[in-house]
Amino acid sequence: MYKEMPNFPPGKAIVFEGTGKPFRMVEGNIYPDQGPSIIVRNRYTTLCGSDIHTFCGHRKEPDEVVLGHEIAGDILWLPQEEVVTDLRGEPVAVGDRITWSIFAVPPGIEAPREDMPQKSGQLFKYGHALATSNDLFNGGLADYCVLRPNTAFLKISPEIPLKVAATISCAHATVTGALRIAGDITSKNVLVFGAGLLGISCVAMCREAGAKWVGLIDSDESRLGWGAKFGADEIYAFAQNGNNDGFPWPDADIVFDMTGHPEAMKAGIESLALGGSAIWIGAVFPAAAVPVDAQRIVRRVLGIKGLHNYNYDDFLNATIFIENNYRKYPFEELVEKEFTLDEVDNAFRYATESKPVRVGVTIS
Ligand SMILES: [Zn+2]
Repeated sequence: MYKEMPNFPPGKAIVFEGTGKPFRMVEGNIYPDQGPSIIVRNRYTTLCGSDIHTFCGHRKEPDEVVLGHEIAGDILWLPQEEVVTDLRGEPVAVGDRITWSIFAVPPGIEAPREDMPQKSGQLFKYGHALATSNDLFNGGLADYCVLRPNTAFLKISPEIPLKVAATISCAHATVTGALRIAGDITSKNVLVFGAGLLGISCVAMCREAGAKWVGLIDSDESRLGWGAKFGADEIYAFAQNGNNDGFPWPDADIVFDMTGHPEAMKAGIESLALGGSAIWIGAVFPAAAVPVDAQRIVRRVLGIKGLHNYNYDDFLNATIFIENNYRKYPFEELVEKEFTLDEVDNAFRYATESKPVRVGVTIS
């Protein structure tokens, strides 16, 4: 039985209207006819790399969009009298802190594969949808978020710092998926290309999964400084001019690419030990094709796998990873600067110019 939704105070949403235009602050109400939805009070949003790409015009989103899909918030309202449970089966109540999946499969739509709900047709994605007066609260840079039906959500401890909790639903969940498709990491030598949040998280996850040795590679030497704090055995500078002949790093059983850059992916394949696997998750923007030496793939028995976003198991396992490790590794430090919702223009400018691992937006 669904309850009638009360009137909530109007809330702010920060609308992106295109590259070069200032963000527009819109005040609006939660539209009551969006169906029986969980209403969340957003508390914190981190700006993901794809938000920055949209801001810079490298990605196309709807003409008016409330960006932000790495969000943590508190349940403000539950639509039914009956007990509501999260993805883990735990009951939730108003006031509970939650994290939720970046996507929701619309009711009536069947996933193309059970293990790939994120590839369903007509998929809804938070922070990527058209913002209208009837549907304003569908991204992270706003006071509220109206959760669509079929959104996977998880209750999390309020002790997890908000700036860490926010990053679960994109970065860490995607990396968890990458480790899933990589298979058993135990006693493997691993190379991670890209020292952004995905690469840094990947280093820590491989370390926790029992990797024998983990190397981290990036062309930005300042980012490599995070490697040791997150469990990397060695860090290496990647020469962007393509002159990486005779790599300074050893061959690896598993190579993760978080960069999406063809030269890095090519170097990754060339760094694979016999029977090794390359796992690609960074290539989510148009780029030149990666030259692949087919004979090398065959004779060295190599594999290449890609993954876009993540599934429900990945989301749950990422949350468990953060619950178990947020005190062990300094994930909080990776959100290098914080802004308020009123300072979103500055937040994006800082993210673009200073290239920190993450910028955070506090929502009070
Ligand atoms: Zn993201």
